[in-house]
Amino acid sequence: MFTRQNHLINLFIRRTNAFKQCAMSTNIGSSLFTLSESHEMLRKTCHDFADRELKPIASELDKTHRYPTEIIKKIGDLGLMCVEVNESLGGSGLDALAYAIAMEEISRGCASTGVVMSAHNSLYIGPIVKYGNEQQIEQFVKPFLHGDRVGCFALSEPGNGSDAGAASTTVKEHDSSNFVINGTKSWITNGYESEAAVIFATTDKSLKHKGISAFIVKKPTEGLSLGKREDKLGIKASSTCNLIFDDCIIPKENLLGKKGDGFKIAMTTLDSGRIGIAGQALGIAQASLECAIDYAQKRQVFGKQLTQMQTIQMKLADMEMRLQSARLLTWKAAALKSSGQPFTKFAAMAKLAASECATFNAHQAIQILGGMGYVSDMPAERHYRDARITEIYEGTSEIQRLVIAGNLIKEYSETNV
Ligand SMILES: Cc1cc2nc3c(=O)[nH]c(=O)nc-3n(C[C@H](O)[C@H](O)[C@H](O)COP(=O)(O)OP(=O)(O)OC[C@H]3O[C@@H](n4cnc5c(N)ncnc54)[C@H](O)[C@@H]3O)c2cc1C
Repeated sequence: MFTRQNHLINLFIRRTNAFKQCAMSTNIGSSLFTLSESHEMLRKTCHDFADRELKPIASELDKTHRYPTEIIKKIGDLGLMCVEVNESLGGSGLDALAYAIAMEEISRGCASTGVVMSAHNSLYIGPIVKYGNEQQIEQFVKPFLHGDRVGCFALSEPGNGSDAGAASTTVKEHDSSNFVINGTKSWITNGYESEAAVIFATTDKSLKHKGISAFIVKKPTEGLSLGKREDKLGIKASSTCNLIFDDCIIPKENLLGKKGDGFKIAMTTLDSGRIGIAGQALGIAQASLECAIDYAQKRQVFGKQLTQMQTIQMKLADMEMRLQSARLLTWKAAALKSSGQPFTKFAAMAKLAASECATFNAHQAIQILGGMGYVSDMPAERHYRDARITEIYEGTSEIQRLVIAGNLIKEYSETNV
């Protein structure tokens, strides 16, 4: 269904289409300070949607752990479940900056909804559009564009998360037309609701990361069962579970990309995914700041408003400074991606800065609210719990630092040759 809002976004995007070709490469400086008309329109649409549809139910979703089916359909109608998919395939045809902005605004309203959206857009749709063939796009992308169906991405295993190259889920030839998969994938976001998964398995563990290939698996499928729904600290409305493969037979045409390319597919997918998680973290950080300022403007202590206390002002200043810095890094990572330049280092810096900002801002918000920050009547304690995951998934903060340092050292050694 094409709603009026979706129509408006697309109208603006088309009108400023030239921007897509040149703005990111030639106007990075100005675009970092002022959003283009199309991006601003998208931001406002998502912002208003979050205020109207997400904020009022975020606490209920968190408390009941309810997956927001109706909300995912609505954000699908807005074109947000296929943000970067080309219009020729039926997607919204927007760029990486639009995706980062949408992720921030949606997560500002509800971080659980944000992660459902990000796992679907970046981790499921992203690699199939990039590496899939026509038939795979027809079967596994086109029916998944509008929020009726979601996908998931299964890389982590019980024995290895950060060390993804050590995958021990195996794939073997079953007969001339099929593969057979055995093993367990862990912590899979959208595990319960998804109707297809991009999964990674090894043909030969001794080859380490070079033995890994990527596959698309339809759900449900015989031989694939789901583990228990994990009881998490935050983002409670999204489901997380194991995918257990026990002689699961899939057609050979579901190999994604080439045999042995799985690790490369996973790493490039995570580069893009980190821009989305940076957006999610910015949304939580922004929501924490808004909650803190709103409270500080109303709360009287010692005969004065909290905002008149310099110690509170210092906290608000630090929160805003970290937020603005992380947002600039995120927009830069997105701009680099859109202009076809390398963005691995910037995506890692964006994710690291934004996730640490989310944790910091959520912590400070609770401090500013005092006792009211510690109870679930106010959203601050939910932001605090939701923020924490952004430092863990799609590469922990330690792994982001390794990625940044690795790229930095390589750049310096190349310039010194
Ligand atoms: C709610 C949730 C949702 C998730 N969703 C998904 C999903 O949809 N798909 C998916 O595939 N995975 C998903 N994950 C898994 C997530 O990506 C991993 O948990 C994460 O990559 C860390 O892996 P691990 O838990 O095995 O920790 P480990 O790799 O065991 O790391 C433990 C600690 O050691 C540190 N460490 C590890 N290696 C190094 C190193 N070389 N140097 C320094 N420190 C190091 C880590 O930073 C961490 O602090 C999800 C996880 C959670 C909790």
